[in-house]
Formats: sequence, structure tokens, C-alpha cells
Amino acid sequence: MAEADNPCVRCGACCAAFRVDFSVEELDSRFGRVPDGLTVELTDSTCRMRGTDHAQPRCAALVGTVGVKAHCGIYEWRPSPCREFGLLAPLGRGDEACSRARARHGLPPLD
Ligand code: SF4
Ligand code: SF4
Repeated sequence: MAEADNPCVRCGACCAAFRVDFSVEELDSRFGRVPDGLTVELTDSTCRMRGTDHAQPRCAALVGTVGVKAHCGIYEWRPSPCREFGLLAPLGRGDEACSRARARHGLPPLD
């Protein structure tokens, strides 16, 4: 899909709506690629993208302005929940979670 046709590049709402938790094994200090500095440790085995549990969530890796222009600053190295549930990606675009995230930011659901 061309960037101009991709609604995610004008959105980013799902990266400023949900907690993003994953295994510490995905950290670059372990066997993964997610930059440690953008995460907070929860337990010995799990961590979270920094900022995603704030009262007004916003992932520390999100670049830009939600609803205007936004992208993941670590797209190639983003953790598994973002890959599996399609945060900022075609997989989840237009689904119920996408619509909820957009509503949190005053954006209408996608067609
Ligand atoms: S998946 Fe939905 S909420 Fe997430 S960036 Fe794309 S359009 Fe926005
Ligand atoms: S896709 Fe990137 S910016 Fe969005 S929640 Fe995941 S790591 Fe954060």
C-alpha cells in the first residue's frame, strides 16, 4: 500500500491507547531487538513499552502527532504485540480495537 493510502500514517492512535507488554527475551539486552531504554520492567520475565500505562497512554517509541502524522520510531524492532495485533500496521487496521483507539483521540472509525 502506498503511504498516501495508508490511514495509519495519519493516525497512530493505537500506540497511544493500549498497554504493550511482552517478554523480556525481546529486549536487545537479551536475545531480541526492542531497545531497553524505551521499556519498563514489570517482572523478571515481562516488560512494557514505556508510556503505554500512563493515564493518557503514549508509547515512548511513537513519533509525531496522533491524528495528524505518526509513525513507530522502532518499526523494524517493535515488540511482538505490535506485530501480532497490528499496531500501526495493516493487520489490525479497521478492527474493533482500532476503532476504540481512534475514538479515544476523537477520530472516527475507518470505513
Ligand atoms: S491500526 Fe487503526 S488505530 Fe492504529 S494507526 Fe492504524 S488506523 Fe490508527
Ligand atoms: S508500534 Fe511502535 S510506537 Fe506503536 S506501540 Fe508498538 S513500539 Fe510503540
